[in-house]
Amino acid sequence: MSKTKTSFFTRAVRYITNIFLPKVCLSCRQDLDYMSTEPLCLDCLSGLEYLQKPYCERCGMPLEFSRGYCYDCEGVQHALDCARSALIYNDTLKPLVHALKYGSRDDLATFLAREMGKAYDYFPEIKDNDFVIPVPLHKKRLHTRGYNQAELLARELAKLKGLKILKGAVERNRSTPTQTTLNREQRLKNVHGAFKVVKPELVKGKKILLIDDVATTLATLDELAAALKEAGATAITAYTLAREP
Ligand SMILES: [Zn+2]
Ligand SMILES: [Zn+2]
Repeated sequence: MSKTKTSFFTRAVRYITNIFLPKVCLSCRQDLDYMSTEPLCLDCLSGLEYLQKPYCERCGMPLEFSRGYCYDCEGVQHALDCARSALIYNDTLKPLVHALKYGSRDDLATFLAREMGKAYDYFPEIKDNDFVIPVPLHKKRLHTRGYNQAELLARELAKLKGLKILKGAVERNRSTPTQTTLNREQRLKNVHGAFKVVKPELVKGKKILLIDDVATTLATLDELAAALKEAGATAITAYTLAREP
């Protein structure tokens, strides 16, 4: 689905501008070395921050002290068993994720998935999976964007780590408004009933790892996990590129 006419056109334009325009760091806009193959300068590369303990054992939210669960997860039943992230969604990373999602920079998925690959082995709790499912986009948004960024990340990570992607099992049946301006309550309401497992036979009895770009409240991941478990999946964990602290 990622190779639409739009993205081919964008790719061509990008290829041409890359030849004529000097490369700049996507985060601090400083000029990059002509030969640089990274989207960030050395300073910004070292500004990427990996998720490290202590964090909430369930949702991966960074915590100040090691105390098991964060306040949101304590004593609450969730469909999603646990979530981990490679990086903290800090000011260095934000412009990259933004460019990947809204700037037609699907090429950044390779670099970002490599970061996910580096941190993946740090989390044994998400490694026991039969299949990987990228969080689906609604058809309408997929059409406007030309690709699903979660799918690109999942594909690259699968290549690096030898994971199997489960295709076509679940769809997003509602185009939910963008979540960035909503609070926790509104987000929960916003995603309710957003996913439909169209091929339950594919997920039944499976342990599945969900892949997404940024984890904020986990409302979306939880909703997807609930739909998959209802269809017979036995365990659902999630791995995202970034965690909003
Ligand atoms: Zn920089
Ligand atoms: Zn938590």
